[in-house]
Amino acid sequence: MHAIRIHQPGDPSVLVYEEVSNPEPGPGEVRVRLRAAGVNHRDIWVRQGAFGAFSEPLIPGSDGAGEIDALGPGARDYAVGQKVVISPGVSCGRCVFCLSGQQNSCPHYRILDGTYAEQIVVPVQNVVPMPSGLTFIEAASIGIPFVTAEDFLTRAQAVSGQTIVVWGANGGVGLATIQLARIRGMRILAIVRSNAFVERLKQVGASDVIVWDGKALLTPDILNMTGSKGCDIVVDSLGQISFMQSLDMVRRGGTVISVGSTAGGKIQMELGQFFRRRLTMLGAYMGSSAILPRILTLFARGTLVPEIDKTFPLQEARDAHIHMESQRLFGKIVLDI
Ligand SMILES: [Zn+2]
Repeated sequence: MHAIRIHQPGDPSVLVYEEVSNPEPGPGEVRVRLRAAGVNHRDIWVRQGAFGAFSEPLIPGSDGAGEIDALGPGARDYAVGQKVVISPGVSCGRCVFCLSGQQNSCPHYRILDGTYAEQIVVPVQNVVPMPSGLTFIEAASIGIPFVTAEDFLTRAQAVSGQTIVVWGANGGVGLATIQLARIRGMRILAIVRSNAFVERLKQVGASDVIVWDGKALLTPDILNMTGSKGCDIVVDSLGQISFMQSLDMVRRGGTVISVGSTAGGKIQMELGQFFRRRLTMLGAYMGSSAILPRILTLFARGTLVPEIDKTFPLQEARDAHIHMESQRLFGKIVLDI
């Protein structure tokens, strides 16, 4: 089969399209002939070596969709040819967290890599039936952003009538948050860096859109828009350049969700600002395995709609990463395999 492999961490040029041997499914595993792979910011961290160097060449990519093309011994419930979506969270399946549906709190939890390829072998619990009505490209765009956003909105007890602020609203997690907050009946204040996205964000569900120059303090705008109260929840995927503002714009007793640090991860804060104002800080990283099948149903019904920015052939994964790093995207980048 063909795959994109990384031999050593670096810039997009380390993504090499090459021929590799076909993986064979072992006991309890299935092999999927992938037709599409979603590109996530995590893939850039992997490529750059943020999770460590590689002992052997690594195939990046965590989201994907395709058809089962081989079953390992004991892999029941699926048939060759069945269309499936990859569920990217891997956990032990036995600990108290796994058994209570909080797989992403399992001590052995990890996100799998390997979807930038024509084939992938995964445990049978890491595939979910793909509903009809979705294309492979659409199905591959959903996993990480929607599972993550649904998980943190549930943990933050986000409910109808609340106001939520979303930084980086045009990215994958940003748009997933907006769509899921919209169906919860929330008021959504979306922050973006470009005028070009304002109308589309409103179509997706943003109540108001703030175009940010990357420097201005937005707290006064948020206070103005919320009758001086501040927002109930703020979703921060940028980190260093936005997090202190997030603490300021949330109401007393509100929740600040940290779901990434695409603009750097170092902050310095005065703890009084946190405890005296009774804030909740919530770290978000993927979600329960139960979420993806439920979310896919909402896509199949048309309650949620995939937002695809651009597709690239698998061979052009480098260009896909360059486009992602430009941050001039609206929605997901997907590799067509
Ligand atoms: Zn576990």
